[in-house]
Amino acid sequence: MSFDYDLFVIGGGSGGVRAARIAASEHGAKVALAEEYRMGGTCVIRGCVPKKLMVFASGYSQRIEDAKAYGWNASGDSFDWPQFRDHLHTELDRLEGIYRSGLDKAGVEIFDERAVVADAHTVKLASGKTVTAKHILIATGGHVVFPQGIAGVELGISSNEVFHLEELPKKILIIGGGYIACEFACIFNGLGSDVTQYYRGDQILRGFDEEARGLLAEEIRDRGVDLHLGTNVIEMERRDGRVWTKATNGREDVFDQVLFATGRAPNSGGLGLEELGVELGRNGQIVVDEYSQSTVPSIFAVGDVTDRINLTPVAIREGHAFADTVFGGTPRPSDHELVASAIFTQPEYGSVGMTEEEARDKYRIEVYCASFRPMQNAFIGKSERVLFKLIVDQDSRKVLGCHIIAEGAGELIQMVGIAIKMGATKEDFDRTVAVHPTISEELVTMRTPVRTA
Ligand code: NDP
Repeated sequence: MSFDYDLFVIGGGSGGVRAARIAASEHGAKVALAEEYRMGGTCVIRGCVPKKLMVFASGYSQRIEDAKAYGWNASGDSFDWPQFRDHLHTELDRLEGIYRSGLDKAGVEIFDERAVVADAHTVKLASGKTVTAKHILIATGGHVVFPQGIAGVELGISSNEVFHLEELPKKILIIGGGYIACEFACIFNGLGSDVTQYYRGDQILRGFDEEARGLLAEEIRDRGVDLHLGTNVIEMERRDGRVWTKATNGREDVFDQVLFATGRAPNSGGLGLEELGVELGRNGQIVVDEYSQSTVPSIFAVGDVTDRINLTPVAIREGHAFADTVFGGTPRPSDHELVASAIFTQPEYGSVGMTEEEARDKYRIEVYCASFRPMQNAFIGKSERVLFKLIVDQDSRKVLGCHIIAEGAGELIQMVGIAIKMGATKEDFDRTVAVHPTISEELVTMRTPVRTA
């Protein structure tokens, strides 16, 4: 049976673009890709990239304060949001162009329109055109989820709208305690907004290392975020152009913006998948095997739509492994073990491997932990502390997990991730000579466990 294409990719984000490019340029497949919005997906258009540029922008206010304490004559009393925002969008346009030209160069045919699956080998485009493909890859990502049952919830915004705000909110409420909520609490705080954060649980960043969560919550508060745990919004109303809110603890307050960062869900609906017998999980995620193959053999899926580990580099790896497996003749399962990640709060939190709580359930462990005021802060009387924590298996001596809270923790955890992925033991860390004076030398100088379990 002959097809129009060897591969049709639905979704032009990180995973889909990587799969399309590798299949076409490295394995000679005839590939088409459909994207209904902008090339680059969540990461480039409304996620990691614009967020990180906002992290950079927001970090300067603290640096200016620190610079003054070091003797610099500096002032940073105002931030020009429209100038930054317009520059940000120029940069996103540039990056989108790079994604598009990468696909063009690889010979991938691009359809700038929505596509849905009509049968196991047929894709229907919004224009009405129908094409066939031997393989179909769903890489449609995820979407923001707003909570149910809050009166006036539609007055809130999500992270999608943040990058387009007409003006910087003077006072903002952020709902949630996950990656996005904590990152934007720090971003707006750094940009000069008055930030309140409500999280319904007893500590932010559920699932991360408890000791690290505790320190990070303290640091975020010390930097000026008014963080309320065990608190949620229950009612919202428009009042005098602002948003009045009532919380579960009875607290009433008025904000310029209310940002919901209450999770995301896979974009699997309306694609014709269920009708075809593609199995979806409870969250709507496409159920796939280790080769990203769905329950319909010609249909594969990568990235957030599969809800495995919802991170850009993981989607890229999944897309690449799919292309090598299906078109390169080298079956390669996606590797989801020991994926390092960073939360770009201020300070940052980088982690890889197990939390102390997870490790304690499975192994006899030693915990090495150093939390201290770095010399850069001590010199100017700044109280902010850093944390370096290693969790070690007492039997194999392997380092099972590493948690770092510090400026630049995202950069540091990438390096530690290599050692841990290679199976480094505590003794491998110990025989590595320190780089002095740095804060990360603690990683190789912690000699005595703070506890065993
Ligand atoms: P998360 O799942 O990390 O966090 C969602 C938060 O919303 C949780 O604190 C959750 O509380 C809370 N929540 C859920 N439902 C409600 C509700 N009805 N009322 C109040 N609070 C609620 O999702 P995010 O949206 O922050 O991020 C989505 C994903 O994007 C992340 O999981 C991550 O994979 C990825 N990401 C990665 C980044 C990075 O690598 N730096 C940055 C940003 C996103 P509870 O804990 O109680 O469930």
